[in-house]
Amino acid sequence: MFEAKQLDGAMKALEQDSLDTLGAALRGGVFLPGSADYDEARTLWNSMVDRHPTFVIRALGASDVQKAVNFCRDSGLVLSIRSGGHQIAGHAVADGTVLLDLSHMRSVHVDAQARIARVAPGALLSDVDRETQAHALAVPIGINSTTGIAGLALGGGFGWTTRKFGMTIDNLISAEVVTASGDILTASASSHPDLFWAIRGGGGNFGIVTSFEFSLHDLGPEVLSGLIVHPIEAAPGLLAEFTKIADSAPDELTVWSVMRKAPPLPFLPEEWHGREVLIFAACYSGAIEDGEKAMADLRSLGDPIADVISPHAFVDWQAAFDPLLTPGARNYWKSHDFEMLSEQAIDALLHGIATLPDPACEVFIAHVGGAMARVAANETAYPQRSSHFIMNVHTRWDDPGKDETCIVWARALYDQMKPYSTGSAYVNFMPEDEERAMASAYGYNGQRLSQIKGKYDPDNFFRLNHNILPS
Ligand SMILES: Cc1cc2nc3c(=O)[nH]c(=O)nc-3n(C[C@H](O)[C@H](O)[C@H](O)COP(=O)(O)OP(=O)(O)OC[C@H]3O[C@@H](n4cnc5c(N)ncnc54)[C@H](O)[C@@H]3O)c2cc1C
Repeated sequence: MFEAKQLDGAMKALEQDSLDTLGAALRGGVFLPGSADYDEARTLWNSMVDRHPTFVIRALGASDVQKAVNFCRDSGLVLSIRSGGHQIAGHAVADGTVLLDLSHMRSVHVDAQARIARVAPGALLSDVDRETQAHALAVPIGINSTTGIAGLALGGGFGWTTRKFGMTIDNLISAEVVTASGDILTASASSHPDLFWAIRGGGGNFGIVTSFEFSLHDLGPEVLSGLIVHPIEAAPGLLAEFTKIADSAPDELTVWSVMRKAPPLPFLPEEWHGREVLIFAACYSGAIEDGEKAMADLRSLGDPIADVISPHAFVDWQAAFDPLLTPGARNYWKSHDFEMLSEQAIDALLHGIATLPDPACEVFIAHVGGAMARVAANETAYPQRSSHFIMNVHTRWDDPGKDETCIVWARALYDQMKPYSTGSAYVNFMPEDEERAMASAYGYNGQRLSQIKGKYDPDNFFRLNHNILPS
């Protein structure tokens, strides 16, 4: 006998027989506590999330997803959805609920002639990049290759090529969605366009995506990219210059700033290891020679400790930050959007860097805009098209005894930066305890999202997410 949480909060007893019947009907299967498959499914990237679902349903296709939805809905059970397992808030797994694991659905098929990729929801960004780059094609996605495409694409998705090719959602042609009623729908500009609008930023609130169809662009296989590392003492002047370069950069040029203690990278002299540094991470989404010209101003700034900008295979560059973002650490993130970075904002930021609570902590300032900004705020559910910089305070550590110190530090830096921010935020960077959540994530689009939620999921069956309530 097992117990699982119902939508009304009560616990429901489940007979082994009913799970056996469900398992036998699936291509994937049902996994119970004690099995390796159960533990694999409940383990997320952020080790602060250590939760125990009642059981796991592994899906291998849309028909499995449909059966899982029908089983849980008919039994009144709460269902969580896991794809890449990277979400910082850890909504993919909850205690005493049913976990639907899509992580084994990893296929990526590229139609190079049509310039389209069909991607299953459990695919990681590395899966997408490897298959698309086999044809020197790309879809704009994130900067850490072990992130899941599904959560990223449903929240928005941006990375090195977003300024040139738009956000991940701007390149979504259609998606196959299993709704709360168990219907398998195609959402696109011409089929259920309201659902298509909502899933481009609205996360997992409207149904379970079992397949994405993305349009592709020419890129690579090599891109001019790499790091320029400076002492943090030079950061006030350099960051002011960086904002000017970012303001006038062509769409092809993307420069992110990272501030942290220097990791022991082979190209950094040993005396710099462990000292605070400012890193410019740059990528040019175009011809290498054009990139050399576009990066000249950035590379002439100050007196860098190292400059390792050169042509790199795009798939390798997409994994360049993986060693700093490994799974299994404790993580707490805070994020703000900015239209500009003033001198005061830079001061506040550097004040936070002076007190990093752990060598693994860092602050990323993503450089966005370009093609992303040329889409109207109400064209997709994701509305923050005018952001030029997105700050992500990556607070990372291993020792649970440091939880409070690290979280307090992240919140303090977030508060110090708040006066300079737009007040909006990216749903994919929000921790679970984010109070401002829905209003800051969706702004004016929030009302329409609630209406569409009311149409496709009136009982809020899909509730383990940054939740949009049905109206
Ligand atoms: C190290 C790291 C680097 C990152 N870098 C970037 C970046 O460069 N750019 C960027 O835009 N984001 C970035 N992110 C954020 C990332 O977009 C989110 O964490 C995203 O949620 C990850 O997707 P996932 O499939 O791995 O998530 P999961 O944890 O598997 O799922 C999270 C939630 O998404 C929903 N969901 C997942 N799959 C489905 C589905 N198939 N159908 C319906 N709902 C679903 C569910 O509500 C689920 O609980 C990064 C995250 C990490 C941890």
